[in-house]
Amino acid sequence: MTITEGVVLKERSVGEQDKFIDILTKNSGVLEVNVRGAKKINGKNGSSTQLFAYSRFCLDQRGDRLYLNSAEPIHIFYGLRSELTRISLASYFAEILRYCIAERTDSESVMRLLLNTMHFLENGTRDEVLLRCIFELRLMSEIGYMPDVLACRNCGEFAPEELYFSINDGGFFCKDCAGEQDTGGYFDVKLPVLEAVRHIVLSDFDRLFNFRVSESVLDKLDKLSAAYVEAHLERRFPTLDFYRSLTL
Ligand SMILES: [Zn+2]
Repeated sequence: MTITEGVVLKERSVGEQDKFIDILTKNSGVLEVNVRGAKKINGKNGSSTQLFAYSRFCLDQRGDRLYLNSAEPIHIFYGLRSELTRISLASYFAEILRYCIAERTDSESVMRLLLNTMHFLENGTRDEVLLRCIFELRLMSEIGYMPDVLACRNCGEFAPEELYFSINDGGFFCKDCAGEQDTGGYFDVKLPVLEAVRHIVLSDFDRLFNFRVSESVLDKLDKLSAAYVEAHLERRFPTLDFYRSLTL
């Protein structure tokens, strides 16, 4: 028997009584778990296996399948259900994690990122667009696609007022050096956008959510982050398209 903390990313019914849940665990990546008699479980056990529940799971391994033995809720994120945009954005986070995080990989930092992002999403104290950008760019960094935002690729300038950020290779050229480059596929941005990306990918986790940006910086960051995810994961996520359709 294995005991693990995890967040339910997806649930789907199987037959009359059972369901499968995908959970993001602290130490074992995303696992698929068979919940027997799910329809009959109610009360505490029932809420602990519903979508977005953060719970402590007892799992039994039989053959190559995992079965739920029991579960205790730690936090249920009821506040996500009070707004359609919140539950839709959380669904996008769940979809991207199910796509990116393999079984049996260390996932502690990714789980901490998800839990903290959902906490701020639930209590509504951070801008949703900024939360999405933080989640996307920090996740990309955690799974091996960290942008190289330290200095201009050509001259080493650390803080250019204007620069060109490459979506494809994650680096940038200052405006002076960009003249010699082919800047197709680059985003031209100003220093505050670079500083925001730096904060998201490089700051200590304790400070990750503690920053603010202006409307115009957020607007650029929004487009840059979405383009970066799409370019590196080579995929569009239907849950993101749905979320965006709500926020037009
Ligand atoms: Zn330069």
